[in-house]
Amino acid sequence: MTTDFVAKKDYFSPMHTAEHVLNQTMVRLFGCARSKNAHIEKNKSKCDYFLSAAPTQAQIEQVQRQVNEVLAQHLPVRAQTLPRLEAARIAGLDMSKLPADAGDMLRVVFIGDYDACPCIGAHVQNTAQVGRFMISSWDYADGRLRIRFKLEDCVPQESQHS
Ligand SMILES: [Zn+2]
Repeated sequence: MTTDFVAKKDYFSPMHTAEHVLNQTMVRLFGCARSKNAHIEKNKSKCDYFLSAAPTQAQIEQVQRQVNEVLAQHLPVRAQTLPRLEAARIAGLDMSKLPADAGDMLRVVFIGDYDACPCIGAHVQNTAQVGRFMISSWDYADGRLRIRFKLEDCVPQESQHS
């Protein structure tokens, strides 16, 4: 568990930021949990979600549309280290990924007012840098939805001005 959490710091920052937005979008649209076994790479990534029924193609398109609408708001991405108890009070904050020994202080990553998630990974500074989020394929079997996605026109450098 701890090694999974630590390994995230090597994630490609635009993809990893997109994962946060996708997770929050899935929580809002389907009421499911955030993906616990995301596989994030520079060129393509995948996330699994557990749903009681298969989504429709229209729902998948809605996920892609909503993620892009959030990214297009050019939301600031910031990290703040908070006492664990204070972090737990933030609405919607999912503590389930945290190892038991994460400590009394948590680094929480905020994407505008859209998402808050404890994370030690690298992120872009503004969602404008993520570019366009594209779902390349998806499948659903045995309660598991797997979404594979890629980005177009992402800008990992922090010097980009929008
Ligand atoms: Zn993160």
